[in-house]
Amino acid sequence: MNIKTIGDPCLRVRSEEVTEITPEIKQLAKDMIECMEESGGIGLSAPQVGENIRLIVGYFFDDKVAKLINPKIVKKSGTKVAHPEGCLSCPDYDNTIARDNDIMLSAKALNGMHIVKRMQGFRARIIQHEIDHLNGTLITDYYNEDEDNG
Ligand code: ZN
Repeated sequence: MNIKTIGDPCLRVRSEEVTEITPEIKQLAKDMIECMEESGGIGLSAPQVGENIRLIVGYFFDDKVAKLINPKIVKKSGTKVAHPEGCLSCPDYDNTIARDNDIMLSAKALNGMHIVKRMQGFRARIIQHEIDHLNGTLITDYYNEDEDNG
């Protein structure tokens, strides 16, 4: 399994909702976790491995890795914090991005359970980064907040 990098068209489309949790999707999630761990990442989205479906894996809660489908931000506090971010699909590039610091996430786990969870700080940032991938957005698309300090 290879991580697609910037320039690959699969990183630029809106990925499809997952309507059925099939054995193939469960296997894909497992393979993605392996790939993420090997690359030293903390989150990975299906489009980054060439599958345009709304599936993400990563350290979103506590310290164990989570597999989520159709993740959606249903509420934002409106308070944004700027922080440097990197991406496995944009090697040798980072950007200081202002993101919501306090969000409510809605998603489904691979066992079919619906999850609604408040997320803050770093974990809220990872989730927003991965959801961006599902919408074809990359860190290179954002204004670099660091330029304010120049
Ligand atoms: Zn990324």
